[in-house]
Amino acid sequence: MFGKRLCNFCCNAHHAVSFYTETGMTPVISGDMLRVDASGLWCERGGFYIDPWLPVPKALITHAHSDHARPGSEAYLCSSSCGPLLRERLGPNIAMETLRYGESQRIGEVSVSFHPAGHVLGSAQIRVEDKGERWVVSGDYKLDPDPTCTPFEPVPCHVFVTESTFGLPIYRWREQSEILVSIHDWWRLNRQRGRCSVIFAYPLGKAQRLLAGLETAFPVFCHGAVERINRVYRESGITLSETQNPLEAPRGYDWSQALVIAPPSAQGSPWMKRFGPYSTAFVSGWMRIRGTRRRRSIDRGFVLSDHADWPGLQRAIKETGAERILVTHGYRQPMVRWLREQGRQAAALETRFEGERDEVEDAEKAE
Ligand SMILES: [Zn+2]
Ligand SMILES: [Zn+2]
Repeated sequence: MFGKRLCNFCCNAHHAVSFYTETGMTPVISGDMLRVDASGLWCERGGFYIDPWLPVPKALITHAHSDHARPGSEAYLCSSSCGPLLRERLGPNIAMETLRYGESQRIGEVSVSFHPAGHVLGSAQIRVEDKGERWVVSGDYKLDPDPTCTPFEPVPCHVFVTESTFGLPIYRWREQSEILVSIHDWWRLNRQRGRCSVIFAYPLGKAQRLLAGLETAFPVFCHGAVERINRVYRESGITLSETQNPLEAPRGYDWSQALVIAPPSAQGSPWMKRFGPYSTAFVSGWMRIRGTRRRRSIDRGFVLSDHADWPGLQRAIKETGAERILVTHGYRQPMVRWLREQGRQAAALETRFEGERDEVEDAEKAE
């Protein structure tokens, strides 16, 4: 069963996101500590959901991206560094509690704790434990270094619920430093040609990772949606390059030397007109797929992702020592197949919102 909604996570309006329920896909084993129902991943013994897609009485949130942190729940629990981002995203009046990484809390019959996932500021893997049985839900994660968040920590468990956004062998990331060099080269070339450099990037996480890595001899501007998140990062003690909102630039400003970071939804909007001649780039793991950039009418694509690549996923899964792996979010079947070939117990876990499905399908065709 398929439905369509706008993607407000990876790219806002440009494509629809399929949500679906494939019955029979998730092997429900009676007595499982976590299982999927109509609202999301449910822990009956604790009376809570993890990253629910519908409003629920109690929601544990892995991180503040909108496909994980949805509005309307009565109470939220997240990591302490995720807290300010969750309020920024869901509003100042949500009922929210936070836990420090590693701190555990008893909820119903289980105890829960949050552990760094290295994805964006505050991102966490959630550990749920009852009588020596331990489950870990990864949320989104990456293993590559990122100065804007606490590095991923493997958490030993019996059952690991892993994301698999880039769970195909074609996804192998290059070093971040190499990508930053290419971005600087592109920016320099644009300056020499008298063109403003506009980078489209996710406003939460990717934009700040760029700002932490870019050198700023020349002015950097950020769209208001990015500036709002920058403020939260800075208040959390993360050092970012100095930035300004383009709306505050003086009249007749010469944009030819500037770098502008904007959410993908700004592409083609009237907001772009102020920059005069400009060159565009998109920074995303999806830029690994040939055709994605061209189809989106972007001049340059830089492959930099906040998700683990194929070797990273495999390493993370192995380090948990889990006997059983449930794969969600992205390329589930190739990962399940690979894990089974390795003699592991693995199955796909159904999710309702499957981000970036267009690109997923294109990727499958490309291979
Ligand atoms: Zn995410
Ligand atoms: Zn996600």
